[in-house]
Order: sequence, then C-alpha cells, then structure tokens
Amino acid sequence: SREWHLLSRPVGWPKPEDFALVEAALPQPAEGQVLVRNEYLSVDPYMRGRMSAAKSYAAPYELNKPMQGGAVGQVVASNAEGVAVGDHVLHFGGWREYAAVDAAQAVKVDPDAAPLSAYLGVLGMTGLTAYAGLLRTASFKEGDAVFVSGAAGAVGSQVGQIARLKGASRVIGSAGSDEKVKLLVDEYGFDAAFNYKNGPVSEQLRAAAPDGIDVYFDNVGGDHLEAAIGSLNQGGRIAVCGMISVYNNTEPAPGPRNLARLIQTRGRIEGFLVGDHYDLQPQFVREVGPWVREGRLKYRETVVEGVENTLEAFLGVLRGDNTGKMIVKLG
Ligand code: NDP
Repeated sequence: SREWHLLSRPVGWPKPEDFALVEAALPQPAEGQVLVRNEYLSVDPYMRGRMSAAKSYAAPYELNKPMQGGAVGQVVASNAEGVAVGDHVLHFGGWREYAAVDAAQAVKVDPDAAPLSAYLGVLGMTGLTAYAGLLRTASFKEGDAVFVSGAAGAVGSQVGQIARLKGASRVIGSAGSDEKVKLLVDEYGFDAAFNYKNGPVSEQLRAAAPDGIDVYFDNVGGDHLEAAIGSLNQGGRIAVCGMISVYNNTEPAPGPRNLARLIQTRGRIEGFLVGDHYDLQPQFVREVGPWVREGRLKYRETVVEGVENTLEAFLGVLRGDNTGKMIVKLG
C-alpha cells in the first residue's frame, strides 16, 4: 500500500524533494477500526499550512509519517460494529491507498445518492465552507451585492451560486484565467467576473460593481482584500475564508492600506473555520442537495488519476490548475 510522507518542511513553494511516496505494509485495523481502500482523495489549500511547523488550527503533518486529508473509500475489512465490509465511508486517512481508520471518525456515505467524489466537494467540506461562510459569517441577505475571489474554485464557485439562488442583487467573481471568467458568467450565472491577472483588482472590481459590494467572501487575501474594502458599502461584511495568495510567502504580506474605510462604512471583517459550523451540515445538505440534483447549482471537478500524482494535484491547486474541486481518483 503506497502512502505519501512529508520529508522536510517546505520553505516557499513546496518542492517534490520535500515529499516521498512510500511503499508500506497493508495497515491492520485495530479494535474499533475499519480498513478502507481509498477511491477518491482530496487535496486542499489548507494542507500547505499543515506542512509547516507553525502553530495553527490543524496540527502540523509529522515528518516521515503518512500525511492526512479527506478521502472516500470502501471498507474492505471491519473490526467495528455498525460499519460493514462494502460500506463507503468519508474519513481523514487520505494521501494513501489503504487506511485503517476509527469507525467513530468515519462517516458512511451513499454512493447511490451522489457520485462519491461529491462528498469531498460540492456536498462535502468545501460546500459547507461556502454555505456557512456566506450565510453565517457574512450574514448574507437577499438583495446583497456579493463579490467572491477564487470564484472558479471549489468553495468560490459555490459561494457565487448560493448567493444567486438566494436572491443576491449582483454576484461578482474573480479568477485567474479568461476561460474561468467565461465559465463564471456563462455557466454559473455570475453577473460579472474578471481575470485578476489582467489588471489591478481594485479597478476591475470597481468596473464590475459600480454600486459597490455588501459582502466580500475572501479566498485570496492581498490586493483582493484591499480592493474589496475599497468597494465596500455601508454595513458591508467581509468573511475571511482563506488567503491563498500568501500561503507560500516567506515574509509576512503587507496588510490592506485602506482598513480605515471600515470606520466610515461600519464594515465588519471576520474569519471563520468550517470546522466550527458542522451544526449546519444537515440544513446545508437539505437545501443545497436538491439544487445540485436539479442542476440549478452547477459544479466542476478536476480529476487527477493515481496515488502517485497526489502531490502534483496538490501543487496544481496552489497554481490554479483546477476548475472546481481538485480530486485524486485511485484505480
Ligand atoms: P480552490 O478550488 O479555490 O483552489 C485554489 C484556487 O486558488 C486555485 O484554483 C487558483 O485559482 C487560486 N489561486 C491560487 N493562487 C492564487 C493567487 N495568488 N491569487 C488568487 N488566486 C489564487 O480551493 P478551495 O475551494 O478548496 O479553497 C478556497 C479557499 O478557501 C482557500 O483559500 C482555502 O484555504 C480556503 N478554505 C478555508 C476553509 C475554512 O474553514 N476557513 C475551508 C476550506 C477552504 P485561479 O486560477 O483563479 O488563480
């Protein structure tokens, strides 16, 4: 069974030499555990944080040990009551082919209700992130003009569409290619979108949202955040979900130079972690599940095949190779 190990903590952009794909013995499920053959692995931006030793909300990956991440697979041996061989489970033993996981930490998923990869994306962690961040942290309400960065990604594409379906007055997205921008407008129903690589974000945002924005859902940080503060309306709200533009920085990034605008706008800026919002999961699935089934909320996945390509898939997320959720499919 092959598994990915972190060998050294990356400085700046992670390099292949910081990792190794290691052949290990098939894990044996202990009492209360099941052995899962992984079918889909998730690679996510937050994993960059776990590669460094800095204290954060998720513990750093240990060196020379299997890395972790979301995964969906089939139970091939069970030492636990309530989970049977053949069941499919969502669990945290990713970055490897086989995982022995505590049955108590595994969530059964129904392969007939949705494609298995959806439990990692549109109906899973990234979907709930979009839902909780927009509705709870940003206190979205009907009539709000919403701007989301990283808008062609897993979280961002769902933020924009949930806002549209819930009656936003205007939905604006930014992404890193003209192709992604076209997708946002043509397929996801954004009112306006721009490629942040084509010119200053503040100017492009002002053109896309001449009447300003009430909500900014931040996936990117940096000049995107500054631009959003610059376009914020009275009582505007900024939900800080991620700041992917700084994850590989070796020096702290400069802060937004226009923070003082929060005073005149009575603006609010608040970070959140999806892990604190799992109480919304049933409501999320009840509301968003039918939208996905009916095709009213569209999603894409970028699928990379083979456990040996997991690292490339992860680096691809940092580079922007993905449209929608990046998924690794195992044979
Ligand atoms: P995405 O599917 O959005 O993939 C990441 C995207 O970020 C890339 O596709 C790329 O798209 C974009 N990107 C990369 N570098 C830059 C840059 N310098 N400037 C602007 N965009 C960049 O990932 P997720 O949907 O999984 O995550 C989105 C964000 O949400 C991340 O910041 C992540 O850390 C955060 N997050 C936070 C959670 C929480 O609990 N707070 C939970 C889950 C995710 P492009 O081609 O457009 O550049």
